[in-house]
Amino acid sequence: MTSKPAYQNLELQPIAGKWREGRAGRNLDVTDPFTGESLLKLPMASREDLDEAFRSAQQAQTEWAAMGPSARGQVMRRAVEIFDERKDEIVSWLIREAGSTRIKAEIEWGSARAITLESASLPGRVHGRILPSDVPNKESRVYRAPLGVVGVISPWNFPLHLSARSVSPALALGNAVVIKPASDTPVTGGLLLAHIFEEAGLPAGVLSVLVGAGSEIGDAFVEHPVPSFISFTGSTPVGRNIGRIASGGEHLKHVALELGGNSPFVVLADADVDAAVNAAVVGKFLHQGQICMAINRIIVEAPLLEEFTQRFVERVKTLAYGDPSKPGTVVGPVINAKQLDGLKTKVATALEEGASQLVGGEAQGNVMPPHVFGNVTPDMEIAREEIFGPLVGIQSARDADHALELANSSEYGLSSAVFTQDISRGVQFAQRIRAGMTHINDMPVNDEPNAPFGGEKNSGLGRFNGDWAIEEFTTDHWITVQHAPRPYPF
Ligand code: NAD
Repeated sequence: MTSKPAYQNLELQPIAGKWREGRAGRNLDVTDPFTGESLLKLPMASREDLDEAFRSAQQAQTEWAAMGPSARGQVMRRAVEIFDERKDEIVSWLIREAGSTRIKAEIEWGSARAITLESASLPGRVHGRILPSDVPNKESRVYRAPLGVVGVISPWNFPLHLSARSVSPALALGNAVVIKPASDTPVTGGLLLAHIFEEAGLPAGVLSVLVGAGSEIGDAFVEHPVPSFISFTGSTPVGRNIGRIASGGEHLKHVALELGGNSPFVVLADADVDAAVNAAVVGKFLHQGQICMAINRIIVEAPLLEEFTQRFVERVKTLAYGDPSKPGTVVGPVINAKQLDGLKTKVATALEEGASQLVGGEAQGNVMPPHVFGNVTPDMEIAREEIFGPLVGIQSARDADHALELANSSEYGLSSAVFTQDISRGVQFAQRIRAGMTHINDMPVNDEPNAPFGGEKNSGLGRFNGDWAIEEFTTDHWITVQHAPRPYPF
């Protein structure tokens, strides 16, 4: 049990150093996706709130960056302690607000904690350089400086972690941050982090949270003159638009875009079928498939197709779905009715297009039971599009080359996986997949705080974590010192 009293007044947002109501004049009703219960009515932020948050972040950033690396690291370490002290409270919010199963909520808590712990070491890992110079008596230095103010826009699926993986390193490296969490998850996507960092000793104004609809304050957030960097995680269409606005000419901001995925899960003919089935079940159904790295396409080399399909279907039929707060549940609700409707349409289209339903069932409330389809071909919608739900199709590959061709036949390139007992064959296969991440003999869902996370093709730009976060959240400043007058040509 958490011994501390839970955070209170979650209808208030930290804007420009003060916890107060948003001034848009409209409330956001935050609901539990499983019970439908209203958890909170939250007055939303206006464009004036947004302006105040960015301007105060700009002021607060200078002093925060001037604090030594140890002092900033110390705030991160204290935040990690608070993650531990408040684990039950955080996990409970992830279950109620994001529809997370307990298993997923604990994984997400652990990931957010891990990136914050990694971030504690980042301030001391920033290195400048001394370069040789052709100019006599010139010392040529490269300083690595914080960017200034970073805007973070995050989605609802792993709200705590996907905000924390930008917020923690950005803060640790001396930036100020303004977060715009998704409207479905303002508490876990922003407000809890702001409470945690305040309790950890982060100076007021360095971190603000703005709760508002992306369609209303999204463009203003990206266009505001203060943030020089927008770290966006979400869908490819919204990400493209943000890229266009942020760096399309009128504004010249850096962007990191972590977008949609369509992960292939390839089972080659020499794979360990049990291991592949175990990985496929979790890699597909963790968080009801609402993960950018989740398996979207299962591709099995023909000799194993029947055996893999049979064992996978058997396992999927045993998965418990329903109330996410029950410890045994592995498939909980999808985030909202709109997502559910989209998934129902995907099921209908798969059947119309000739896929055969091997596992299915009717949705109850926002809970959609796991669905598996056989006879899937690459032109079908469930193969082409990101599913983001508990549905999956199985495709047959003639041989390993065909499996590779199928794996690469997607506009996305985030994560991927291949199963084979021949590791060097697996590595060669992995190197030919066009994706940011490939896991041999594991599921595609992997994220470690020191390893580069990101995608190729339409899955985005940039990398998170470890040294890559230092690259993203700091910039080079070339400074030279002329130690003695140099000869000029005139
Ligand atoms: P989304 O793109 O609809 O929303 C993401 C965020 O953008 C939300 O905070 C939303 O309010 C905001 N937003 C919406 N319109 C905006 C606008 N015009 N300007 C600025 N902000 C705007 O995505 P979602 O439905 O919340 O999340 C699911 C998607 O996110 C999936 O496609 C998934 O693959 C992707 N995702 C990617 C990663 C990754 O690391 N690559 C991780 C998780 C989720």
